[in-house]
Amino acid sequence: MVNDMHLRFLGGSDRVGSLAMLLDIDDTHLLFDYGMTPSKPPEIPLPAPPVDYVFLSHAHLDHSGMLPVLSENGSVPIYCTNITSEISHLLHKDSLKIAETEGYSPPYSTLEIKKIMHLFEVVKPKESFEISSMYDVRFHDAGHIPGSLMVEISGSKRLLFTGDFNTIDTHLVKGTKPVDCDILVMEGTYAGRDHPMGREELEKEFIDKIDEVVGRGGVAVLPAFAVSRSQEIALVLRKAGFDIWFDGMGRKVSKLFLKHPEYLRDASALKRAMNDINLVHSDHGRKLALESEVILTSSGMMDGGPVLHYMNKLKNDPKSAVLLTGYQVEGTNSRLLVDHRKLDFYGVLESVSCEVQYYDFSGHAGHSELVSFAKACSPEKIVLMHSENREVLAESLKDFSEVILPHNDQYISL
Ligand SMILES: [Zn+2]
Ligand SMILES: [Zn+2]
Repeated sequence: MVNDMHLRFLGGSDRVGSLAMLLDIDDTHLLFDYGMTPSKPPEIPLPAPPVDYVFLSHAHLDHSGMLPVLSENGSVPIYCTNITSEISHLLHKDSLKIAETEGYSPPYSTLEIKKIMHLFEVVKPKESFEISSMYDVRFHDAGHIPGSLMVEISGSKRLLFTGDFNTIDTHLVKGTKPVDCDILVMEGTYAGRDHPMGREELEKEFIDKIDEVVGRGGVAVLPAFAVSRSQEIALVLRKAGFDIWFDGMGRKVSKLFLKHPEYLRDASALKRAMNDINLVHSDHGRKLALESEVILTSSGMMDGGPVLHYMNKLKNDPKSAVLLTGYQVEGTNSRLLVDHRKLDFYGVLESVSCEVQYYDFSGHAGHSELVSFAKACSPEKIVLMHSENREVLAESLKDFSEVILPHNDQYISL
């Protein structure tokens, strides 16, 4: 018997942000991710109807950020890894704090954040179970950040929801492998963009640049996402011998990573890297950091966090440099810095004299890797999501009989 299967995006189909996808198989209703875009003000998906299962691919806010509101829909289990549930909890509390400081109406309450903690059902990669008499779910490591999952739904048809994924190995996690399926629902964050060079070459250029900055008497400021990117950078710099100070939420996230070594490629390397880094705990620490060589700090897109404190002190110093380690999304402070050499300090726009460079330490598959991955999964249909450049990716996938680019709120029969 062939089951009736259709999907509908509640958010994030055509952009990198606030992802949420509903999948209905006959009378079983599944929700994949329920994220928010941490823009000003935050962008959220359409309200979610009651569902039977929720699957959370990973902790990043654009996938997990709006989960607490689901506690209104009763006690529906949310399946994810233990590390994902713990980091999501940290990010939910932080979102609430940001809403308060920025003056937005909070998307949920502390009570809802607590309630949702009890709804998490811990799963692991390779685990599977029955979700209806005819369908199973199986989890695969996504290679994106520690604990990230791809979700496979299999019965009369096999569907793979990739969440965010990476196929190449990084210091933190190993890349993922393709999964045979009939319907591939694939992210396309890097659609149209390839990573310009191999990791080794990138790391060498990055370390050489820091050497140059330190050599001329400047400080290298490395804005990095708290979850995964800052730990990856700590690992990249592990043997370079710089005097490094680490500030922001990444410190707490590092502790959580080390609590779950089974999700790390080399937990002892991260432990050693963290031991060699100075943690900022106070204003005095911030002063010392400004006299050091390297400051690793959040937020990655420079829209808040301690990075603005450091930049306020260093903005007129042409010897210092801002070395961005993540892509600069349109409308963010880091994009403003790259395009106009200016930063928005809580409403006050100021020029920045520091050198600015971008190093592509992405945790996502690049364009060519997305295409190879899709081909190796050999699906009949491909659904492209979570991308601002889906048309370009669809063009590279035109050998497939059906490539679907759904809009939010559109019903797609599979
Ligand atoms: Zn992600
Ligand atoms: Zn994402």
